[in-house]
Amino acid sequence: MPYKDPEAQKEYFRQYNFNRREASKIWRDGRKEERSKKAKEKYYTPEGHMKMIINGWKAKGVIHDDFEGLYEIYIKTENCDVCNNTFVNSKDRCLDHDHGTGVVRQILCQDCNRMDRWKNKLNKNILL
Ligand SMILES: [Zn+2]
Repeated sequence: MPYKDPEAQKEYFRQYNFNRREASKIWRDGRKEERSKKAKEKYYTPEGHMKMIINGWKAKGVIHDDFEGLYEIYIKTENCDVCNNTFVNSKDRCLDHDHGTGVVRQILCQDCNRMDRWKNKLNKNILL
């Protein structure tokens, strides 16, 4: 311990943490352009975008035999499977999956995914 006085010790750690945060910020800011260039090279290509999307699915627990095939279907789908509305942009497209088993169900728009509208549709189908 650098200080016997608890207040001086607190101040020491406050300053220490502040210096660490500042040093990290300087390091980050100094590499902003380099990092954004690397990110562009990595993700702003068709292959990079595919990898990013597939890694996102895997992180969310989606289980599938052919992720690249699934990605092709996902990217080519232009309408929501439930409401049939055209996707406004690429972020409007969602891959709906069972959170328990990881099985892919359908490709939905943000609204249907959020509102769980597919459940009503699925139940109707089961009843029919
Ligand atoms: Zn929809």
